[in-house]
Amino acid sequence: MLTPDFIQSAARSAGFDACGVVALSALPSDVLRSFDEWIRRRHHAGMRYMERYLHQRADPRRLMKRGARTAVVALLSYKPHRRQPPHLPQVSCYAYGADYHDVLKQKLRSLLAALQAQQPALQGRAFVDTAPLQERYWAAAAGLGWLGKNGMLISRELGSYTFIGVLLLDDDVKSSATPAKNRCGACTRCISACPTSAIVGCGRVDAHRCLSYRTIEKHANPQQGDAQSAEAEKDEKTAAPRYIFGCDICQEACPWNRKAKVAAHGELQILPQLLSLTAEDWLAMSADDFEKIFERSPIKRATLQGMKENVRATMG
Ligand code: SF4
Ligand code: SF4
Repeated sequence: MLTPDFIQSAARSAGFDACGVVALSALPSDVLRSFDEWIRRRHHAGMRYMERYLHQRADPRRLMKRGARTAVVALLSYKPHRRQPPHLPQVSCYAYGADYHDVLKQKLRSLLAALQAQQPALQGRAFVDTAPLQERYWAAAAGLGWLGKNGMLISRELGSYTFIGVLLLDDDVKSSATPAKNRCGACTRCISACPTSAIVGCGRVDAHRCLSYRTIEKHANPQQGDAQSAEAEKDEKTAAPRYIFGCDICQEACPWNRKAKVAAHGELQILPQLLSLTAEDWLAMSADDFEKIFERSPIKRATLQGMKENVRATMG
């Protein structure tokens, strides 16, 4: 039988910065209620896919045919060595390098292969942000951190600049988890720092107002935009976002990110072009150049037209 120590060591060899193992169960009713409430209030904006497959979200054991029994949750830090100069249109640092979906999937596959080498009959399924799975809840349940007031997973060592990958296994493994204490305390810095008042409750973000949604999802799924988002944007023209893809403002405000260690993952380091692209460069960019520069980047999800719109919005 696999042990948590073996899995954590295999996760480090696969390139992850932290890993926890937890037995799967149905989501606790308070967690499910809070998610239902978020959907009911339409805080998921145009992300209609969040409404689907609720039976699997409520019980992730249903995500594997034979029934998943264990979640291996792995973190990959993306806190950058080098940031964009502040006068340039800003991109969230999770999108500085290669698309994290690809990077994490490949590492999760290597991890699964290492586990199968030990236990050949083991079946696993890797998920990176694409399944009806409460990744942050399961990461906290696996002992990797706590859920901050901005809804992010906060690790004492890595802060919140981490990607979460989940490998579901069809076998039991003893849990490695010692639940982490919530260390937000009386701090409310993320809430005060948010330029659009998008943090509407403890850990709850209204996507209509959040720049991460507005600069990406709205362009990736234009048919899903809704009147509430347009209203929120109209109200907040004065907030003059300097971000053109995603937003790191609430994370920058978090004291746990100051202490967090910097990632050493080559594939996530900043594209050299992002160190010099001005608003004018973005507006003049051709489709060919966009394709060439951002071929492996998550930025292409927002489309060139969407990025140009975002740049114009920062110019007032
Ligand atoms: S990502 Fe930006 S807009 Fe969204 S909650 Fe955080 S600070 Fe607010
Ligand atoms: S800024 Fe403060 S309240 Fe917000 S997540 Fe960080 S520690 Fe928690």
